[in-house]
Amino acid sequence: MPLLDGFVPWPAETAERYRADGTWAGEPLGELLRSQAARTPDNVALIDGDRSFTYAALDRWADRLAAGFSAAGLRAGDRAVLQLPNVAEHVAVSFAFFRIGVLPVFTLPNHRMAELDHICGLTGASAYVTLDRFLGFDHRGLARSLRERHASLRHVFVVGDPGEFAPLPEAETPLDPAGAPGPDASDVAFFLLSGGTTALPKLIPRTHDDYLYQARTAAGICEYSEDTRYLATLPIAFNFTWGCPGVVGVFASGGAVVLSTVPDPQVCFPLIARHGVTTTSVVPTIAHSWISAADGRQEELATLELVQVGSAVVHRSLAEEVGPALTARLQQVFGMSEGLLCLTRREDAPETVLTTQGRPISPHDELRVVDAAGDEVAAGGTGELLTRGPYTLRGYYRAEEHNAGAFTPDGFYRTGDLVRITEDGGVVVMGRAKDVIVRGGDKVSAPELEGHLTGHERIDQAAVVPMADAVLGERTCAVIIPVGTPPTLGELRRYLRDRGLASYKFPDRVVCVEAFPKSGLGKVDKKRLVADLGLDAPPGPDAAGSDREPAGAHS
Ligand code: AMP
Repeated sequence: MPLLDGFVPWPAETAERYRADGTWAGEPLGELLRSQAARTPDNVALIDGDRSFTYAALDRWADRLAAGFSAAGLRAGDRAVLQLPNVAEHVAVSFAFFRIGVLPVFTLPNHRMAELDHICGLTGASAYVTLDRFLGFDHRGLARSLRERHASLRHVFVVGDPGEFAPLPEAETPLDPAGAPGPDASDVAFFLLSGGTTALPKLIPRTHDDYLYQARTAAGICEYSEDTRYLATLPIAFNFTWGCPGVVGVFASGGAVVLSTVPDPQVCFPLIARHGVTTTSVVPTIAHSWISAADGRQEELATLELVQVGSAVVHRSLAEEVGPALTARLQQVFGMSEGLLCLTRREDAPETVLTTQGRPISPHDELRVVDAAGDEVAAGGTGELLTRGPYTLRGYYRAEEHNAGAFTPDGFYRTGDLVRITEDGGVVVMGRAKDVIVRGGDKVSAPELEGHLTGHERIDQAAVVPMADAVLGERTCAVIIPVGTPPTLGELRRYLRDRGLASYKFPDRVVCVEAFPKSGLGKVDKKRLVADLGLDAPPGPDAAGSDREPAGAHS
């Protein structure tokens, strides 16, 4: 079995078991679209503005692109950084890559040089696929800088006006599946980006087998069918939108995906009405903005049946409002790009749906809740969640040293989430042990931001901590020990922009101190710092300053 260098596979015996019992179907993701196109060729698969693609059309498009990328010189095992918003090309290019074994690295539309430079270096990517401009930003400039720094980056393909680069290569003659053996289903299909707990973003390898199992199982629980109309409004490069059950789950069911590049209710409500959208997935802040906008507009939302809310803590008061305001059933979602996915179910008691983040989707998911010493806590107790299973990674890509601490010796992934498990097996998220700020669903790695901040000439030390926020749940506070005159928030933001950091990682507030409280081991005691500065109580909603970023889970 060909294995990608730097990929940590499941132990052979475990993999054999998943294959023997059919958990892993042995079907590459590219074949999923092909077989669905054979079953339901005339069903609409994808809607992007005024463009609509049947399964047959999307399938042919993916094959023409696959042939085009092959003719351009891309080969199985090559890595391609994919940076597209929610446009049809994102889907077609992904499936073209899956068919020829090129591995897309899913990045978010507002990642910038700091992230992409690292990812290109880590993966040795041979291609960058992007678009000309998005939300006022010219991605061709980014392509130029990446090309200067990475000799491996032989190809840049641009949707829209390519400038000096190449347009998407659509061959006249599509890929002939009979003449082109696709990848093995146990191979890595693509990479997701980790929310991060380290100074540099880590990559999560997802195999065809594991991802199809996740999306199909979730689609079964969500009762996806040919009648499903899924609105993808969070970036489809997010695991939540791509496969929980998301786009891949829709394609496993013969339904349609409707794309939106923004989560704004003024854009999404008309899309729901126009296309008869039945389901969508949002983060709590977006659910909140939809609820606020829904008053008197329920008719537009009449086809909505299921609204998934997750990726950040969903407070009970918000959970209670979702169903009545959006005329749909709420489903709580707790998941991670690394694997484990938990969903509440239709048959759950209303109280369970309001107060838990769901049960694991698979009977093969193994969950342990442990204390700081690594010992399992008593039933119902709170501790860190460890997990392993058929779709949870066994190691980050090319991260041997980090993996040694991020996994137990027997292969459990340390999630960094503090949870308790109810008697019915429901997971309740109680907090976090990891050094991440969950800003309305966006994940900001504190060490990553600290690394950038301490590069500033007027900052000696920095500690990045969450501050409670009534709208986003948490915002990002940079506590600094300055050298001389401290930089203002505006200065810091400009500095971070110049360093090429994605803007959702910028601090919302900067606080100067003379010293940090330290724990016994000499580490910064962030809990105490948060308490000392009074950052753990949310200010009133009107405290949102003018230079704060608006919503979480940017698009
Ligand atoms: P990501 O890989 O970006 O999906 O981030 C995964 C992380 O988001 C998890 O490890 C949790 O820390 C957080 N998360 C996801 N869903 C929830 C939820 N329903 N409630 C609280 N935190 C969540």
